[in-house]
Amino acid sequence: MSCKIDYQAPVDLLENRVVLVTGAGDGIGRAAALSFARHGATVILLGRTIEKLERVYDEIEAAGGPQPAIFPLNFEGATLHDFDEMAKTMDKEFGRLDGLLHNAGLLGRITPFEQYDAELWDQVMQVNINGPIWMTQALLPLLQNADDASIIFTSSSVGRKGRAYWGAYSVSKFATEGFVEVLADELESQTQLRVNTLNPGATRTQMRQSAYPGEDPATLRTPEEIMPTYLWLMGPDSAGVSGQKFDAQPPRQR
Ligand code: NAP
Repeated sequence: MSCKIDYQAPVDLLENRVVLVTGAGDGIGRAAALSFARHGATVILLGRTIEKLERVYDEIEAAGGPQPAIFPLNFEGATLHDFDEMAKTMDKEFGRLDGLLHNAGLLGRITPFEQYDAELWDQVMQVNINGPIWMTQALLPLLQNADDASIIFTSSSVGRKGRAYWGAYSVSKFATEGFVEVLADELESQTQLRVNTLNPGATRTQMRQSAYPGEDPATLRTPEEIMPTYLWLMGPDSAGVSGQKFDAQPPRQR
């Protein structure tokens, strides 16, 4: 579970690459979209709140980055048909996909399992694992069209060691880790396509604030500070690395 926190990305790392970021309107996804664009990528901003995606779009344009694209999608309620249509649109626009960062995530509730609401459990599983899995299936041909493509699934420390009260969130991240092992094994002979998991670690975002309301956010790394590992995994310097688990920062107590 290595960590590339000191990775220094060349400014043109992602030049001529088309990269899709889910949950690109806020938190870590927003920072990743901005950072990928700063390093030359054409970023497809996917998310459920269009105004947030538009703000990121404007920030990329204002910084002189390659013109991004916006793809509104809510994983809750998204169907196989939606993912197929999405793949068709991207095929028409770009013909390939060089990178896919699965970042969108839902915390659900931190509560004893006895009190966990079944409907909420399903929502968390849909947003955190089922939606991303079927989206990946639809996008595989486009990823296979690229010379060197990287799929990153976002995990969590509770996806590697279970913790009381984390319910569906923890289970969805364990499923993420398992799915990536399966897919990486299947793709073993396709050396131009890699898939790995990345645990951001405790990071100053809305989700972290909801999970730990009493915590002082100033004690946490910002999304911008954890970008080196994201860049390394998305760019060609990690070519050939697949089926592995990464951390974007050194582990802390929780
Ligand atoms: P965040 O600030 O809450 O951002 C989550 C993003 O996911 C938002 O852009 C949100 O869109 C999007 N999203 C949520 N539900 C969605 C849906 N149904 N359809 C489409 N997009 C949806 O959280 P974050 O902390 O940046 O988390 C990013 C990833 O890192 C998540 O996978 C999370 O599990 C993981 N993670 C975070 C931490 C941490 O300490 N922050 C630690 C470990 C793992 P809206 O803004 O429109 O709601």
